[in-house]
Amino acid sequence: MKILKFGGTSLGTPERMQQVADIIRNGTPMMIVLSAIGGTTDALEDITHYLYKNNKDAAREITSKLERKYKKLAEELYHSEAYHQKATELILSHFNHIRSHFNKSYSGLQQKSILAQGELLSSALFQYYLEEQQVASRLISALAFMRIDKNEEPDELYIQENLERELAKHQGASLFITQGYICRNAFGEIDNLKRGGSDYTASLIGSALEAEEVQIWTDVDGFHNNDPRYVKDTKVIRSLSFDEAAELAYFGAKVLHPASVLPCKLKEIPVRLKNTMNPRDEGTLITTSPSRQEIKAVAAKDGIAAIKIKSNRMLLAYGFIRKVFEVFEMYQTPVDVITTSEVAVSITIDKQDNIENILHDLKKYGAVEVDYHQSIICVVGNLMADEKGIIYKIFDALHDVPVRMISYGGNQYNVTLLVNTRDKTKALNALSNNLFRYEQ
Ligand code: ADP
Ligand code: ASP
Ligand code: MG
Repeated sequence: MKILKFGGTSLGTPERMQQVADIIRNGTPMMIVLSAIGGTTDALEDITHYLYKNNKDAAREITSKLERKYKKLAEELYHSEAYHQKATELILSHFNHIRSHFNKSYSGLQQKSILAQGELLSSALFQYYLEEQQVASRLISALAFMRIDKNEEPDELYIQENLERELAKHQGASLFITQGYICRNAFGEIDNLKRGGSDYTASLIGSALEAEEVQIWTDVDGFHNNDPRYVKDTKVIRSLSFDEAAELAYFGAKVLHPASVLPCKLKEIPVRLKNTMNPRDEGTLITTSPSRQEIKAVAAKDGIAAIKIKSNRMLLAYGFIRKVFEVFEMYQTPVDVITTSEVAVSITIDKQDNIENILHDLKKYGAVEVDYHQSIICVVGNLMADEKGIIYKIFDALHDVPVRMISYGGNQYNVTLLVNTRDKTKALNALSNNLFRYEQ
């Protein structure tokens, strides 16, 4: 069995849905994981945001606009009046569900239920489309098997047992469709795997079913060696190790959800990134093979806060770093990059919902400074393969970009740097020029 995940970028128009149908129509046993149609989850998030602010008019307006978009898609997608009618009724029922929340007092539960409508709609509409094209497929609800536990971690045993039970109900079927992103939590309520989480769904399913391959289909030819949104002339990387892919995804390469690497890595299931608009291209293959090539790629992650704690007592003192880390642990805040000097420690964090408490508690140990609007830039590859010295090339590229922190030596395939977000595009381009200019 292969697992194929199609992102929102692959589902936005009737032509793209047609392309997806062509890709999956080859008789190979497959489970298809679908995201919401592009832009939908953003719009649903806006609706929940306005409901939270008690601005029901704005929520109503976005809902109606989104509903019109779906009705138009249904008009163009289906050939027969019967399917157009079925799809229109389905769309109406989902939008009525969204509207049913407008008169209730707003809660996190309602937010999750509204956010789930995107994937529920795309999967049902796509299945109607396949049905109309006489392609036999079965729609399996992700809410029947995908579950996270009390720590918001996937409950892998539950997922495997329940998915196998659901599939066993359809003996002889070979094409299954399900929703990415959505799941149930430990209390059985509707929840999700966080933004971009459909990739994670695909890899959890891949792991549960010990799939032959997990394919992530999107709108680019695979993993690029730099962020194509900020750098021109980026190139596709044909092979990556799981560790390299995890590092790049974690530090900002949006093409893959960071958590989605681990389940496949543990079971050694190859992950392939492919382009829905260019299916013949081989894409990027992620496997356990270690990297031989030198520098593979650069990625950047925004929205980072850098906290510096300066203590005169740190000189020759032990226990200082432990106490600092305990504060982050207490507020369940992961630390990304850390650098130290004799009297200070600098730490970056991405999750900032507890930052005021963290800063307050850290003040017990010294003077605390915080810089917001920072970006982590991550350079990934086999650093040891470059005799000329990769650090020289990085510093040379960034000669006129102020670098706030640098972390090197944590492992042999990653250097991370911290720059102000306003310098990010310049830094990414300069690194591309120095690291990849002579390739090909
Ligand atoms: P999908 O809807 O298919 O999940 P995403 O928008 O989540 O698509 O991810 C694909 C996008 O990721 C690409 O269009 C590209 O702009 C962006 N991206 C960022 N960094 C990279 C990278 N290193 N390689 C490829 N794409 C990247
Ligand atoms: N639809 C969700 C999002 O936009 C999940 C995904 O696309 O992977 O974040
Ligand atoms: Mg995505």
